Amino acid sequence: MSENLMDKIVSLAKRRGFIFPGSEIYGGLAGTWDYGTLGAFMRDNIRSAWKKRFVQGRDDMEYLEGAVLMARKTWEASGHVAGFNDLLMECKKCHERFRADHMAEGQYVGQGKAKQKNQCIECAGKEFTEPRQFNMMFETYVGPIKDEERKTYLRPETAQSMFTNFKNVVDSARRKPPFGIGQIGKSFRNEIQTGNFIFRSREFEIAEIEYFVKPGEDDKWFEHWLNEWEKFYLDLGIKKKNLRRYEHPKESLAHYSKRTVDLEYHFPFGFGEIAGIANRTDYDLKRHIEYSGEDLAYFNSETKEKYVPYVIEPTLGIDRAFVTFLIDAYDEVEGGRTTTTESNKEVETVLRLHKSIAPIKVAVLPLSKKEPLTKLAHEIAQILRPYMTVAYDEVASIGRRYRRQDEIGTPYCVTIDFESVEDKKVTVRDRDTMKQERVEIEELGNYLKERL
Ligand SMILES: [Zn+2]
Repeated sequence: MSENLMDKIVSLAKRRGFIFPGSEIYGGLAGTWDYGTLGAFMRDNIRSAWKKRFVQGRDDMEYLEGAVLMARKTWEASGHVAGFNDLLMECKKCHERFRADHMAEGQYVGQGKAKQKNQCIECAGKEFTEPRQFNMMFETYVGPIKDEERKTYLRPETAQSMFTNFKNVVDSARRKPPFGIGQIGKSFRNEIQTGNFIFRSREFEIAEIEYFVKPGEDDKWFEHWLNEWEKFYLDLGIKKKNLRRYEHPKESLAHYSKRTVDLEYHFPFGFGEIAGIANRTDYDLKRHIEYSGEDLAYFNSETKEKYVPYVIEPTLGIDRAFVTFLIDAYDEVEGGRTTTTESNKEVETVLRLHKSIAPIKVAVLPLSKKEPLTKLAHEIAQILRPYMTVAYDEVASIGRRYRRQDEIGTPYCVTIDFESVEDKKVTVRDRDTMKQERVEIEELGNYLKERL
């Protein structure tokens, strides 16, 4: 199943309105994606689960929504202008461009016409230009005049505004280390090659924390965040066997980094990074002190201690989390799951998404399109809508409608039948157990809220 699993996910995502290719009617814009209703709801749910857990749920966290555009000096201080490069090589025949490291690792093998390492996926050519540096930041100009002075970049990560606002947050929220700033936001990288669906895109969203600690306490906090970060996925239903930790060897670490561990997920195309934790030491704050001339050191007025905090940085991609949840939840049942009626011998798809991530929480389904069932069903849907996302569906057989909901991961289906009009009760069906329970309409809201 795993070979074409990715194709199935991509097709389901488009067919049901989770994810559409960006600019599709104009032939597409590589590395961009548009999220439809289900996708946008699901992203909201992932963001909200993250925020509830790591910001709202802790007393040592602040929250920030920084600007995408920042002064160019920010990116000089951060090292991105000089060093945010990938080595790029170009096919001499068709001029398609590739990342030299990915080419050497054989990452393009199997894509397009690339049958082996060092082969172009477009034309199967084997001759390339010498690798050269390519800066991955998108350039733009602030204001109407396009000169070097006004040039800046779309942010390639969200971290920098949390460093540049360190003092603002300390002063306004009266914080002292250890504490963190969390942020979720769009970031942009002009990737040489995109691919594997939304895994590598040019526009994506990051959820990350800069956690400021006293030097010497950094190792302890690193462990803490590594465990917390992993638990985020596990508690939202990701199977442990599909996750692994990758410890970056000392010699491959960036010069300022003391330790970096990636969380990797076993995708159909192999293990891929979905999150990371880095000990960035005092590098970032010191660089901004140097470039801005502002004193960003922390001063404890009680103990008279002054120091530049160390930073532990847990980071994860919302889009990568999204595709991870989709893949991990995807299940196919041969011959279908129903035991009450004759098996239809189809393959049934069930998206076993965690309830908090599922885009639609409940589907309201009148057994027939006749009055008074539809009127009652519409009323019930309207009662539930302020509290949860609701789908209303009256088209096709009830079995088919259940399957349509299973396929998008809806945890509960509520069926209104002719008896409902008399006894004021409806049938609630559970996506995973397929158990059906008769519930009073008056109690339905509370019944669902408790279970969601
Ligand atoms: Zn080529």
